[in-house]
Amino acid sequence: MNGTYTKAVLALGSNLGERNETLTEAVADLVDPPEVRLLAVSPIVQTKAVGGPAGQPDFLNMVITVETSLTPQELLEHCQAVENKHHRVREVHWGPRTLDVDIITYGDFRSNDPTLTLPHPRAASRAFVLYPWSLIEPAATLDGERISTLATRASDFGDLAPFDGFGDFDGMPTAGAVEER
Ligand code: AMP
Repeated sequence: MNGTYTKAVLALGSNLGERNETLTEAVADLVDPPEVRLLAVSPIVQTKAVGGPAGQPDFLNMVITVETSLTPQELLEHCQAVENKHHRVREVHWGPRTLDVDIITYGDFRSNDPTLTLPHPRAASRAFVLYPWSLIEPAATLDGERISTLATRASDFGDLAPFDGFGDFDGMPTAGAVEER
């Protein structure tokens, strides 16, 4: 810890189990320690699972911004601890749940270390990161370009869809869900 707070952008994704519940709990876990304070939460976007095994559920992705007094390495370890907590099998009925948490940026810090590369090396080409991020930080740039511009250029931009809460639970949709068809 260094006593001062640095803004960081975190990307979360889940495509197994109760994906929305996993993301909700993960956000709470990520900002649970006093060293990590929540700044903004993006909407959840749905991304078609392209390739991979047939019948794979779509990904749910979102971005949060935080300010943290953790060092980049400490923040990575914290994110990995939250990932590990959600990788466990909680109940046989729901099966395993998966969670991926990436650090997209940590202030202006740059690193080529493979264990923590910053900004995240693939963020500039992933619409599922860039688009939700652009909704909470419209003026943000990456590699000198507006993230919204990068989002529309990304090959997965057309695979994004709003998440309405349907299809994530074997019963009633998430409260507030609105059918868009
Ligand atoms: P993945 O399974 O694709 O999430 O990759 C996890 C690995 O990527 C871990 O071993 C991390 O040390 C490494 N890594 C490198 N840069 C980052 C980053 N910016 N955010 C999260 N993990 C990273």
